[in-house]
Amino acid sequence: MKDNLLETDVVVIGAGPNGSMAAFSAAKKGLKVIIAEEHPEIGIPAHCAGLLSVKGLKRIGVTPPSKAIENKSIKGAHFFSPSGKHFSVERNEVQAYVVDRREYDKWVASKAKKKGTEIMLNSKIEGFIQKNGKIEGVYGKTRKKDTFKIKADIVIDAEGHTARLLRQTRLPLPDPSKKVVAVQYEMANVYDIDSNFVEIYFGKNVAPGFFAWIIPQREGFAKVGLAANKRNAGKLLKFFVKKNPLVSERLKKAIIRELSASMIPLGGPPKKTFTDSFVSVGDAAGQTKPTTGGGVITGGLSALYAGYIAAKAVRENDTSEKIIKQYEGLCRRALGKEFSAMLLLRKTIDRFSDKSIDKLFDTVKKYNLVEEIEEKGDIDMQSHVIRSTLRHPRVVLTLISAIFDSLISS
Ligand SMILES: Cc1cc2nc3c(=O)[nH]c(=O)nc-3n(C[C@H](O)[C@H](O)[C@H](O)COP(=O)(O)OP(=O)(O)OC[C@H]3O[C@@H](n4cnc5c(N)ncnc54)[C@H](O)[C@@H]3O)c2cc1C
Repeated sequence: MKDNLLETDVVVIGAGPNGSMAAFSAAKKGLKVIIAEEHPEIGIPAHCAGLLSVKGLKRIGVTPPSKAIENKSIKGAHFFSPSGKHFSVERNEVQAYVVDRREYDKWVASKAKKKGTEIMLNSKIEGFIQKNGKIEGVYGKTRKKDTFKIKADIVIDAEGHTARLLRQTRLPLPDPSKKVVAVQYEMANVYDIDSNFVEIYFGKNVAPGFFAWIIPQREGFAKVGLAANKRNAGKLLKFFVKKNPLVSERLKKAIIRELSASMIPLGGPPKKTFTDSFVSVGDAAGQTKPTTGGGVITGGLSALYAGYIAAKAVRENDTSEKIIKQYEGLCRRALGKEFSAMLLLRKTIDRFSDKSIDKLFDTVKKYNLVEEIEEKGDIDMQSHVIRSTLRHPRVVLTLISAIFDSLISS
């Protein structure tokens, strides 16, 4: 396919879960769609814990096949403070599945393919075809160094957190200073782990700027990882596994089967994610939850809107901003207040010292806020529980005293 020129209605950059979801959504509406993916295999390399809420999967209309599901019984979470204080949140019904992202991504891509999407593997997009500043497609290279061009009415950029191509547009990027480095082991020989609960660990020595996690897969297997605002996340993870008093004994015999590392944007979507004939979705558009780093559901929902608006624009033969901006309108309506609330919580927690987090754990336990979290919490749509907990006088007092402490210490 030397110097190949292809033409299509929509070209999607990246066959991650959100790129494939956008392609599925556009192809379902009858559009001709091409996905260009730089890697030879979809879902590889995998770098994700794969914790997806049951409600969230329903929201994006997805029922993953059983071969993509590693654990179907997550009912809650155990939270641990820096000094080892602990509380648990548990519901009667299953709250989340743990999926294998290699299989999940392949399956979402196959859904898009079934609707007619063409998937070009080994095809790295290097830039945009532009005329008078307007994007009219993409160009790239295959692994064999053959060049290709794809002319398209709409380009959907789902390239992930690097947002390298997005830099070639005039659009703002997700705040790079708010990215955390995430490292994860997939481990075997893991015992004494409750298969119904994920474990979350806070603390400046554990995972500064985020948290560490243990996510049970099938019996004897778990994903153990952390993200941090420091480059040494890999060292922190080693330390967590080998030395953390609440963890090391249980992981003493564990074996690392797979190590992965990547970054998670936590600063929320930038001010604008569209221009004429172009939208960004998923991690490239900062659609990752600032509290937990999850981006498959929030990105997936936005990707569905991207495909829907792309179809509308092509049908109406108008791919100008006038139509394309409706994409961002839909995203804001569905997720705007969620992102605002999650950003507020992220900013607040980032100011906390370990002592303040410990105090917050005391407050949660003393005033039985667990019940409120259990009743109102939603893994993806967190604004309701954040707002209602922040309204609690004791929480406000704890927050004020934490912020005061942090001001004094800084
Ligand atoms: C350690 C870790 C744990 C996580 N855990 C969770 C979790 O439990 N739950 C959750 O919801 N989210 C989680 N996330 C976040 C989640 O992985 C991302 O939000 C999600 O992968 C974003 O999907 P995406 O399609 O936007 O981007 P990506 O998954 O990054 O996909 C981008 C795709 O684009 C391709 N690409 C990039 N550049 C080009 C190019 N120039 N040309 C062609 N192809 C290109 C890439 O190869 C890739 O396939 C986690 C992230 C990390 C790092």
